[in-house]
Amino acid sequence: MHHDFDYFVIGAGSGGVRSARVAASHGAKVAIAEEHRVGGTCVIRGCVPKKLLVFGAHFAEDLEDATRFGWTLGARSFDWQNLRDNVLAEVDRLNRAYQATLDSHGVETFHARAVLAGPNRVRVGNRELTARHVLVATGAHPQLPADIPGAELGITSNEVFHLEHLPERIAIVGGGYIANEFAGIFHQLGSQVTQIVRSNRLLKGWEPALADRLLQIMMQKHLDIRLNCQPKAVVKQADGTLRILLSSGPDVEADVLLWAVGRIPNADGLGLEELGVERRNRGEIAVDSANTTSLPWLHAVGDVTDRMQLTPIAIREGHALADRLFGGRNWKVDYTHVPSAVFSHPPIASVGLTEPEARERLGGVRIFTADFRPMQHVLAGRDERALYKLVVDASTDRLVGAHMIGPEAPEILQVLAIAIRAGLTKAQLDSTVALHPTMAEELVLMRETG
Ligand code: FAD
Repeated sequence: MHHDFDYFVIGAGSGGVRSARVAASHGAKVAIAEEHRVGGTCVIRGCVPKKLLVFGAHFAEDLEDATRFGWTLGARSFDWQNLRDNVLAEVDRLNRAYQATLDSHGVETFHARAVLAGPNRVRVGNRELTARHVLVATGAHPQLPADIPGAELGITSNEVFHLEHLPERIAIVGGGYIANEFAGIFHQLGSQVTQIVRSNRLLKGWEPALADRLLQIMMQKHLDIRLNCQPKAVVKQADGTLRILLSSGPDVEADVLLWAVGRIPNADGLGLEELGVERRNRGEIAVDSANTTSLPWLHAVGDVTDRMQLTPIAIREGHALADRLFGGRNWKVDYTHVPSAVFSHPPIASVGLTEPEARERLGGVRIFTADFRPMQHVLAGRDERALYKLVVDASTDRLVGAHMIGPEAPEILQVLAIAIRAGLTKAQLDSTVALHPTMAEELVLMRETG
């Protein structure tokens, strides 16, 4: 049967672009549709602009510490519009680079919303096209609470990169990684930050010792963290500022309210119900281990499947799928030992089992920690300790988890993730000579603490 395309990809984000490009490089005739901007969440309004803001924010501490290292600095000031515009210009550059990659691989781009119009059929604008295989890579969107009056007065991570002014006071709702990252960014840039967290701790699901350390450091830096607390209503005041009424404790007044309370898969309104495609609890598309839905011609990767909302996962899934469908290479994504980070101030990075997970799943567990003040902090007089934690399976001596908070933790942990994936033992780490003086040397010098 003739089709207009071999492969039609809906959504030009991390997963969609990779899958389209790889399929095209295998010789498939490929189209991709994008309703917002090519590059998707990560490039346009996620990882990339966020990380650039983190870099910008970190200068606050570096400049403060510089005097202890002998530098005399002139008057300091920060210009939000300057940073924002430079970040957005870099986003534009990446957007062009992604488009250029698609073009150079002969992928036809439709700059429009696409939906499923029947078996092997896609509707883009007022055109209907057919494809042998269709990929849904539509990502997710930030959730706004439906039951809080005035919730719409707040913004989400979609809007935060475009703020006209640096808010003097910002309230951030959420305890997950995005909330903590923006709390760090705005605090460093000079905003007064209040973080409102539903549960009794930050970063649920992450290694508790790191989450506790982050909380302690943030409180030391005078961020106002309200645990066990939820917004009840948001009201706009006569002067245009916001008042956030809480389930407990005094109200919060803020110039900007940022909701960071989760991301919902973009699966509604795509025509999935009409085709009888199976979905799960949060509306995500159900797929098998090879990313195919309940229909053999329809596939889904990335955040819309809600497996692990991370860019490298979406990319790998898209790559594996294109290899399998068009390249004769059958491989699947392995979801074990996936490293991840929180680019908070200081950053956190983690791979493998947390201590509570390991204690639940394994017979015996050995815990090794290093709790130290990084050398640059000592000289700077900065009272901020790093914490590294290794989780080891007592019966095999193999590393099953590594968790770190401190300067450059994500950079160091990426390498440790390789060691864990390779099945290295604690004894092998200990047999490695330390690289001195570094923070990472702590990893081969760690003491048993539990
Ligand atoms: P996306 O990249 O979201 O792409 C989906 C695309 O589909 C979008 O461009 C959308 O406009 C388009 N689309 C949707 N519906 C349609 C339609 N019907 N027709 C046409 N186009 C459509 N991950 C990390 O790994 N590290 C990080 O540090 C990190 N930081 C983040 C920070 C923030 C603030 C956010 C919001 C996310 C962050 N993420 C991070 C998560 C990461 O961005 C996502 O996991 C990743 O982008 C998912 O890729 P995807 O291909 O599934 O979807």
